[in-house]
Amino acid sequence: MVLRSSIYKKPAQLRSMVEPGLITADALDAVRSMIEPGVTTLELDAAASALISARGAKSNFQMVRGYRHTICASVNEQVVHGIPNDRPLRPGDILSIDAGAEFRGWNGDSAFTVIVPGDAPADLVAPRQRLSDVTAGSLWAGIAALSRATHLAEVGAAIEQYIQDNAPEGGYGILRDYVGHGIGRKMHESPSIFNYAVADRGPEVRPGLAVAIEPMVVIGDQETFTEDDGWTVSTVDGTAGSHWEHSVAVHDGGIWVLTAHDGGAEKLAPFGVVPKEID
Ligand code: MG
Ligand code: MG
Repeated sequence: MVLRSSIYKKPAQLRSMVEPGLITADALDAVRSMIEPGVTTLELDAAASALISARGAKSNFQMVRGYRHTICASVNEQVVHGIPNDRPLRPGDILSIDAGAEFRGWNGDSAFTVIVPGDAPADLVAPRQRLSDVTAGSLWAGIAALSRATHLAEVGAAIEQYIQDNAPEGGYGILRDYVGHGIGRKMHESPSIFNYAVADRGPEVRPGLAVAIEPMVVIGDQETFTEDDGWTVSTVDGTAGSHWEHSVAVHDGGIWVLTAHDGGAEKLAPFGVVPKEID
C-alpha cells in the first residue's frame, strides 16, 4: 500500500522550510547583483552554485534528472528552463533567473526577471519592463489572494485578473502548459497551482500548505515549444517572456513568503496583506 503524504504540513515542517527559502533568496540576490552587459549566464550559474554550497545547501535543480546547472536562465523569447551558456548578455535583454536550494531535506524555489541595463532602444526596453512588472504584480496578487482564499483556485483567478487589468491593449499570453506546485521535501509536489482561472476550485487553503506560485507570461501568444536542447521553453511567435516565482507557506498565523527576506511585507502592502512570521 502506498501512503500519500498530506499536502498539509505540520508547523515544525513549515519551520524547516524557512532556511532553504532564505538561501534561495540569497542565491538569487547574488545573481541579480552581477547582471550587466558582457556577463554570461554560466557565470551567473557559478555564483548561485557557490553561494548555495557555502551555506551548506544543495542545488535542487541539479537533482532534476538530466539537468546539470544551478539556475535556469531564460533570455528574450525563452520563457523558462533556459540552460546557462557562454553568450554575453546584451543591454535590453530580458532575462529570467530561476533557482532553488535544498537544506536539510527541505526545498526553496524562486525566480525573477530583469532587463539587462545599458544602452538599448527605449521601444525595446519599455514593453519588456512592463511585461516583467505586470508578471511580478500578478505573482503578488496571487500571493495576496492565497492569504484570503478558501480554495487554491482563487490564486490562479487573481493572477489572471491582474494580468488582464494591467496588460496593454491586445493582452498578454499566460502559459497554459506550465504551472506552480506544492513544495516541501521535494521541489515539485502536489498540488498544481494554475496561473489562470479553472473550473475546479481545488484543495482547501488552510494552515500547512506550502506552494510555489510562478506566473509565466509572454507579450504575444502563449503557445510555446521546447528547443532542441530538450529543456528551453520558447514562444512560437518569438515574443518575449517573463517568469516570477516565490515559495509561500500558509500557517496558523497567516502567510509568509519563504523566499523573500521580509516575508513579502513590502510587496503585499499595496494589497492590504501583512505577512506573519512562522513561530
Ligand atoms: Mg522555480
Ligand atoms: Mg517552481
